[in-house]
Amino acid sequence: MKTAQLREYHQPLELVELPTPELRRPDQVLVKVEGAGVCATDLHTIDGHMEPAGVTLPRVLGHENAGRVAAIGELVSTVSAGDPVLLYPPHSCGLCVACRRGIDMHCDRHEFTGLTVDGGFAEYVVVTERSVVRLPEGVDPVAVAPYSDAGITAYHAVKRVAHLALPGTTVVVLGVGGVGHVALQLVRELGSSAVVGVDPDSRRRALAEELGADVVLDSAGVVDAVRDLTDGRGADIVLDFVGSDQSHADALGMLARRGTYSMVGFGGTLSVPSAAMVGGEQTAVANLVGSWIDLWELMQLHGRGRLTLKTETHPLEDVNEVLAKLREGEITGRAVLVPNPGDKGEQA
Ligand SMILES: [Zn+2]
Ligand SMILES: [Zn+2]
Repeated sequence: MKTAQLREYHQPLELVELPTPELRRPDQVLVKVEGAGVCATDLHTIDGHMEPAGVTLPRVLGHENAGRVAAIGELVSTVSAGDPVLLYPPHSCGLCVACRRGIDMHCDRHEFTGLTVDGGFAEYVVVTERSVVRLPEGVDPVAVAPYSDAGITAYHAVKRVAHLALPGTTVVVLGVGGVGHVALQLVRELGSSAVVGVDPDSRRRALAEELGADVVLDSAGVVDAVRDLTDGRGADIVLDFVGSDQSHADALGMLARRGTYSMVGFGGTLSVPSAAMVGGEQTAVANLVGSWIDLWELMQLHGRGRLTLKTETHPLEDVNEVLAKLREGEITGRAVLVPNPGDKGEQA
């Protein structure tokens, strides 16, 4: 099968033919990939920053996968061949305390599709049955693939602060990219606050406006702009999908007393005088992916037509061009790689 494999850090992915993977355990599912979202985490991986997460090379990347079931192990009972599915990226055991709490991303035996095991920049991927979310008939897997990481991460982060997004409060979304554009809509769906979308790119600011932001701001001078908007009080919640030194500083600079700073993007260093956070009784939280239930709930919202996932599709062969566009900030929404354009996978 065709794959796009990372063989060496800081190098382009290589288009490599590999044997179609086989089921090695009776609880596994072979999925024919129809779409795989391209994420900033793929850039972090290529840059060699994901070794602490257990990445080893060579690795087929791709953790935002959707497609159709091609084969099932003999213990699999919830899906069968031909079913459209979205794949929750963590592999989890179901037996440890974290799994039993429903937070599979912290599983003791955790693996992650496309990082620690081979992913969906390929024609086929193997996952365990626990990772599968069955899609309602009629939902195109390609159109929803990015929900499996971009969407779930946005949902997890917003759900954790939604009880604070009360009428009269202000939520700022820093970075209206692949994750942020979903989060902005979820703030609107799960909370009652005013929503401010912030992005340096005018195309993404236009998207924020289209998706229901009450106010849209440029990143330059955003701290003062948010203070002005809120009569000096600042933002009650800041959701940061950038995670740079600059976005950390901006977020803390605009955070209201008793405000919550919620981080999703990462890579910078958070530096803040504790006296300021204690004096303002502020909270900082960080978010890692989400639970299977987060993904399932997100699909219920999607099924009711409450969310817009902005995607563009590209053939798998163009993976390096797509990664370069993402790095340059030239993707609005999410790019999805399609291994076999034109083939809807029915004959899986
Ligand atoms: Zn991702
Ligand atoms: Zn577990």
